[in-house]
Amino acid sequence: MSSLLNIYNRKKIYFLKGKGSYVYSTNKKKYLDFVQGIAVNCLGHSNSHLIKAINKQAKKIWHVSNIFNIPEQEILARRLTKATFADYVVFQNSGAEATEVAIKMARKYFYSKGQINKNRILCVNNSFHGRTIATIFASNSKKMTEGFYPKVDGFDHFNFGDHKGLEKKITKKTAAILVETILGEGGIKVIPDFCLKGLRKLCNKKKILLILDEVQCGIGRTGKFLAFEHAKIKPDIVPIAKGIGGGFPIGACLVNKKVASCMKPGSHGTTFGGNPLAMSVGNAVLDIVLKKKFLNDVKKNGDYLQLKLKNLQKKYPNIIKEVRGVGLLIGLKLGVNNVKFIEKLMKNYLLTAKASENVVRILPPLNVKRNEINEAVEIIDKVCKNFK
Ligand code: PLP
Repeated sequence: MSSLLNIYNRKKIYFLKGKGSYVYSTNKKKYLDFVQGIAVNCLGHSNSHLIKAINKQAKKIWHVSNIFNIPEQEILARRLTKATFADYVVFQNSGAEATEVAIKMARKYFYSKGQINKNRILCVNNSFHGRTIATIFASNSKKMTEGFYPKVDGFDHFNFGDHKGLEKKITKKTAAILVETILGEGGIKVIPDFCLKGLRKLCNKKKILLILDEVQCGIGRTGKFLAFEHAKIKPDIVPIAKGIGGGFPIGACLVNKKVASCMKPGSHGTTFGGNPLAMSVGNAVLDIVLKKKFLNDVKKNGDYLQLKLKNLQKKYPNIIKEVRGVGLLIGLKLGVNNVKFIEKLMKNYLLTAKASENVVRILPPLNVKRNEINEAVEIIDKVCKNFK
């Protein structure tokens, strides 16, 4: 019997090692890993540049409290601000924490302007922002909140795509709109560029903040460093995590000057967030991901994979109902049970992950090779062909 708290229906498999797009199990099988820790290992397993960076840092210093200067943190923050809309960065350890600090900053911003009742955040029903007590009530999904009442107040909700409902829900107390640029757990639901533009305009008109959660869709996954860049807009606050650590736990919140001015020493803090070991890995990830050619290749490979999947959709219209996503953040909405389909893919040595709306998520590493994409497509084709 396991001593682990029973919070996951884990697959009965153990992985001994990973290299690039592949993982190797204890029973000596090789799997094509198109989960990659759920969009975490952006450079695949055991990337040599990341290994070098972490080993080098491990020999110097691992952890220093945030009460002292941490040069590696300052370097990563400067690189992130240079590459994005942001003027400031605060480091955390996970996506949920990064989103929590986004919520805190939105509230504190209006508090610091004397608008103390302007503190509510408007979110999408059944979105996903993490598993802390605040972020589950931001997401408002029954599955996540059941049994965890009393409710954390301060969140209002609208349905994905309901523009009128969204406008109606904005009141004098609304401080910010918080949405995932692409809903990940929710089923790879893309907010079209014109809607993102509309959201920015609406926030300007109502003088409220726009928070875009890029924890899953950010760090190059869509072929731009941050997914909202496709829409050519600038949000006010952006939580990131997952890919920025390439497998090492890092969260961060990016923020513009206007909002950042409300935060003072003591407003927020973290013991582990931004320690030298984490920062050395984050910097090494940026060495690769920020290169224009790298991002262009993500887009090209994403388009290639999506085209192949759309061809499969034509071949098996009762099985694949829709191909969703941007770049290498891809979802297949199925006409058959997604859990069963994922099991069959796994039996054929392809790892994928489920999402809401009967979706199978396909999340290769960002440096995936063409022959690996072709291999995955062949497996999906075979599973569709034989699906009963
Ligand atoms: N926000 C989004 C969009 C996510 O997809 C996730 C995790 O999947 C989170 C927040 C929470 O991140 P973490 O699990 O690192 O707390």
